[in-house]
Amino acid sequence: MSGLETSSGERVACTGCPLVCVDVVVCAATEGVDSTSVSFGQACSRGVAWLSEAWSASDREMAVVEGRACGADEAAEAAAGRLAACRRVLVTGCNDATLETVLAAADLAEGVKGAVDFGAADTRHSIGPIQSRYGRVTADFEELRDRADCVVLWCGDLEQSHPRFVERFVAPPTLAGPRRVFVIGDALPPSATPGWTLVDVPRTQLAEVAATWRRMLRERLSGKAAFASVSAPRGVTLLEATLTPLIDACEAAQCIGVVTEPSPDDRTGVAAAAVSQLVNGLAHHKPAFEIPLAAQAQGAGGAAAAAVCTWRFGASGAVAVADRNGGPTADAEADACRLISRGEVDGVVVVGEPTPPVAAALEGYEGCVVAVGGAMRSSGGAVIWIATKPTSLATQGTVLRGDGTLVELREVRPSARPAAQTVLTSILHRLAVKEGR
Ligand code: SF4
Repeated sequence: MSGLETSSGERVACTGCPLVCVDVVVCAATEGVDSTSVSFGQACSRGVAWLSEAWSASDREMAVVEGRACGADEAAEAAAGRLAACRRVLVTGCNDATLETVLAAADLAEGVKGAVDFGAADTRHSIGPIQSRYGRVTADFEELRDRADCVVLWCGDLEQSHPRFVERFVAPPTLAGPRRVFVIGDALPPSATPGWTLVDVPRTQLAEVAATWRRMLRERLSGKAAFASVSAPRGVTLLEATLTPLIDACEAAQCIGVVTEPSPDDRTGVAAAAVSQLVNGLAHHKPAFEIPLAAQAQGAGGAAAAAVCTWRFGASGAVAVADRNGGPTADAEADACRLISRGEVDGVVVVGEPTPPVAAALEGYEGCVVAVGGAMRSSGGAVIWIATKPTSLATQGTVLRGDGTLVELREVRPSARPAAQTVLTSILHRLAVKEGR
């Protein structure tokens, strides 16, 4: 075994997705002189791939400046020089970052008076995150598991985005007994168990379904209407008839949990706002809440990025000028994808992995890219890449699970790479020196 060891049988946290499973057991066994096999018990296949990559992260390559390998300090100095010369800088990424890294990224954004957007789906919406989250009643994952005897899954591909969500929070019974599960969409997911009910409506009709459900709830409460469960009588639309068994079950339930994911078809944010209002209406009637999950391929850093940005700059993203005393924000204008694709920034600091839409926008980008951690990337312009410790296994710090629960990370696989926040702080310090601050 190499000098980089961890004791077998330790529990570690996986940061491969926003669920941040803390029950993963790492077992390393030495085979022969220097080869080690490692297993990650309890992790899903996505988690195993994620943790295996973190486990085998090489310490050989520390930094690259425009195609030339060098040390992290030299690259940080080059990055500071480049950023100082930029007209406008965007700070993005943090899809898999710790809270400490997001805070350092926010400090750097303020230091360069740049824009900040960590790539969340709703900052690209024209009505923005404040509208779509307004009045949203939420709860943590365990609340759903323990209390919701009626669960509505209103998601895309949950197995892809949050692989163990059903196993950990939907499959177990509530503290009081079994639960009913409804799936809104056109097919039951592979993880469905007998007894789950499909509410067969296209996901593209999200806003219409939410508005119809809300209206039917209001009519029921005011005693105006009763809908037949079996067939659509005259005057009842097909959508109303399809929703009736779900509304019957909600009426009989003690506690309702609605699990949602941003839909790629919801380009304005209207559908997300309609679902928030629906759950808000249910919550006036009985215990009910929404569990808003992150979009596909979002990592464990999304919640921390949104929280830090909100508390520091007053908005979860699309911050046009990072200023804790109140800089401008502009949803669907100062979001990372638009700033990059419109060429409104000539420098981009990417911290760790960006969200997939931001990664796509960066392809072919001509400006300067400073990548702190994450994969080494190429672009049409200058690229500086500095390797950092993987978030899982090698970083001591804290991450926010998708529902905002704080999870402590331990360093169980030491790495010679610097931590991402150390690199960001070093670049900021060098910038300050260059500018005589
Ligand atoms: S569900 Fe997510 S956090 Fe849990 S093991 Fe899989 S990838 Fe890791």
